[in-house]
Amino acid sequence: MGKILLVEDSATQSMKVQFALRGGGHTALGAADGEEGWQIFISEKPDLVLLDIVLPKKDGLTLCREIKQYSGTVFTPVILLTNQGDTASKIKGFEMGADDYLTKPFDVHELLARVKSMLRIKELQDQLHRLVNHLELISTIDELTQLANRRSFNETMRIEFERTHRYKQNLCLIMLDIDRFKRINDTYGHPFGDYVLKEVAGILKSNIRKVDLAARYGGEEFVVLCPATSMESGATLAEKLRKNCEIMRIEKEGTLVPVTISIGISDCFVAEPSDSDELVRQADDALYEAKKSGRNQVCISKVKKGDS
Ligand code: GH3
Ligand code: MG
Ligand code: MG
Ligand code: MG
Repeated sequence: MGKILLVEDSATQSMKVQFALRGGGHTALGAADGEEGWQIFISEKPDLVLLDIVLPKKDGLTLCREIKQYSGTVFTPVILLTNQGDTASKIKGFEMGADDYLTKPFDVHELLARVKSMLRIKELQDQLHRLVNHLELISTIDELTQLANRRSFNETMRIEFERTHRYKQNLCLIMLDIDRFKRINDTYGHPFGDYVLKEVAGILKSNIRKVDLAARYGGEEFVVLCPATSMESGATLAEKLRKNCEIMRIEKEGTLVPVTISIGISDCFVAEPSDSDELVRQADDALYEAKKSGRNQVCISKVKKGDS
């Protein structure tokens, strides 16, 4: 059963159809002209629209096109109510996106049957739309940490790198890796390791700006992409992340488990990477330096302008 909008300027015809719709278990809304029809469509978002063609203020074919082009709804079936022999209007109606038509005078049982069949199609369309949205979401989010996944990071990185070049801004990339994480897993178990990953992800989420992107790059490796950010500001954020991990109190069976991270940073001004892969590589090299120099520290990419 659905919410049906009927746009019909003949009061008697409108009453008759609304009565039949309610008898069929639907909710019926009536509009007497094209303008009113549009207003009710926008505010009520009905499941289906029954549309007379000849209407005051705005004709049915124009309204049909507007309904079909409206981006605030997924799929709203439109059934045109046409006059006998008005084939041109029927054809025009289909061109405007109408899904079906009924020729006046029509049998109310046929009307109800067509409404029911269109609502079935709408339900399938809605299900498909929900599924696509869900798939889109899960294909970009890392399930464990709820951060962006690597695929989503790569996509954003590509766009931000282009934007950075186009507008001659800076782009800072922070890459971080949990220190001796294997030992945490081996000592306290894999589920506890998962818990640590989620806590570290939480620190990233609560410290970055809305325009930054934090992503899980791999196992215990994360990246933070900071558009329009200098190396200096990136380093300040990185140090804050490092410090927050260091002072985080995670306990397992009464024992405090120390969690530290090593961080590498690269940016576009200092290192002038030729592509986004190079920016990643430079941050990764800096991260390797941080590991080599004793872990739990931030290292900045050493590549200077003019180096190759
Ligand atoms: P380093 O300080 O050099 O980074 O040492 P590390 O032990 O952190 O590095 P290593 O690469 O040797 O170990 C990473 C570990 O991360 C090994 C792997 O089992 C673990 N790991 C990867 N993904 C997950 C996950 O989703 N959950 C858990 N619990 N562990 C994971
Ligand atoms: Mg009319
Ligand atoms: Mg690692
Ligand atoms: Mg590690």
